[in-house]
Amino acid sequence: MNEYRLFIDGEWRAAADGRVAATINPATEEPWAHVAAAGPADVDAAVGAAKRSFADGRWRKLPRAERAAALSRIAAIILERAEELARFEVLDAGGTMRKANLADVPATAQTFQYYADLLSGSSDEEVFDEQVPVPSRNIVRREPIGVCACITPFNFPMAAASWKIAPAIAAGNSIVLKPSPHTPVTTLLLAEICHQAGVPAGVVNVLTGPGAALGEALVSHPDVDKIAFTGSTAVGKRIMELAAPRLTKLTLELGGKSPNIILEDANLDGAVRGALFGTFFHAGQVCESGTRVLVHASLHDELVERMVEGARSIKLGDPLDLATMMGPLVSDSQRANSERYVHAGREEGARVVTGGRRPPELARGYYYEPTIFAGVKNDMRIAREEIFGPVVSVLRFSDEEEALRLANDSLYGLGAAVWSRDVERAQRMAERIEAGTVWVNDYHLINVRFPFGGYKQSGFGRELGPWGLAEFQQVKHIHVGEPTGVDQKYYFGLLFD
Ligand code: NAD
Repeated sequence: MNEYRLFIDGEWRAAADGRVAATINPATEEPWAHVAAAGPADVDAAVGAAKRSFADGRWRKLPRAERAAALSRIAAIILERAEELARFEVLDAGGTMRKANLADVPATAQTFQYYADLLSGSSDEEVFDEQVPVPSRNIVRREPIGVCACITPFNFPMAAASWKIAPAIAAGNSIVLKPSPHTPVTTLLLAEICHQAGVPAGVVNVLTGPGAALGEALVSHPDVDKIAFTGSTAVGKRIMELAAPRLTKLTLELGGKSPNIILEDANLDGAVRGALFGTFFHAGQVCESGTRVLVHASLHDELVERMVEGARSIKLGDPLDLATMMGPLVSDSQRANSERYVHAGREEGARVVTGGRRPPELARGYYYEPTIFAGVKNDMRIAREEIFGPVVSVLRFSDEEEALRLANDSLYGLGAAVWSRDVERAQRMAERIEAGTVWVNDYHLINVRFPFGGYKQSGFGRELGPWGLAEFQQVKHIHVGEPTGVDQKYYFGLLFD
């Protein structure tokens, strides 16, 4: 059994009260590692370490080139340790090895390399010399915020952690990161890798342990200056309440119910693939999953038929096996959630056209079959609420306006897609969709250079690109006036004769 402790102030530490918790392999339902379970004393220790490292400037005051070089080294070590990281990501989260190899590990390394390059090629300071209303030099500086409390979900543990750590430390902050209790291990290893790469002690700390109690203790700590949260909308709302008393700066990356619109002139081969990939990748446990497929009535029957055929060809099984296309869900309760929604969909009159059950051939593991609902109305719970499992709803529309109305009739606004051979038409529709990312003829393609985040109850703030860095910075304006020429400062007349 693997054993992991907390990573605080550059070293591995047991929880102050010695507690540990098991982390379960979702494919076997067996524990595969023991991980320390942090409590309030550990929150104090980790936030204290982060605060000291920020205050003495051991990281934030280093020349940008040195910080960029450390971020580059982190990327290199991630790639050197790729096999170990991929394996542990699969054991913890239940995603497939092909996902870990093709997405999780390279994307995590790429995020660090991207922010290394961004640091090297930019400056934190801009200077503007103004003559009006009086001569002045104006310096606009981007400064780190301080101690950042970062909380991540279970679905992409390593990549989500990199979306927090890389921009936060690129900006010069110190952080305390809390991963999901379902998937703590690779985040701990990332902290170790940061240390190996020369990031000083106390700058990156990781606390593992019970989700809500630990998360609330962390975000409520009086020495936390910024909270960056990724997770469900319900928990996001709770965190906003906890941030309110001290107006702690906050970004929230939350849930979704994204529309995937297939117009009558779509290339159906691409649209079918996109609809399946958009929903069943990682067993649907992806925040921007295209869980509402909106299809033009003329294509509806053929699309459903081809989706059913495609869903049935998805091979479920041991996620470590490279032939496996879809692994288990992360936990029994996550699977039970899908089961509840499938029941609700049936009750409300929608039709399960494939799936809707546990695969009979897989007795162990939290597996659930790719499930497609037809005959869905947009006011049904399966079309309104995030399921976060392999369950997709197909809805039909008869014209562009109806498609847009259905697409935007949602509390959420994270992702969306439009499939059409007429890309200008699709682009015009994309402009009218209320979502942070809209793909045309594509799905799930997240690019480290471009912003990712939500409209409406999918949250606020953006990750990735320069926008992701800006969320971890304060902006200061320094106005430097002339020491002489008091008479020119006519605006003193606002007070004096
Ligand atoms: P979750 O909200 O249950 O948990 C997210 C994190 O918050 C975990 O680390 C958890 O331990 C912690 N947490 C739980 N209760 C807390 C509390 N009261 N105070 C502080 N922290 C608390 O979400 P999950 O089930 O881990 O992940 C799935 C959700 O995440 C989905 O809703 C999905 O859409 C969302 N998500 C969003 C994005 C995005 O970028 N918008 C990306 C990935 C996942």
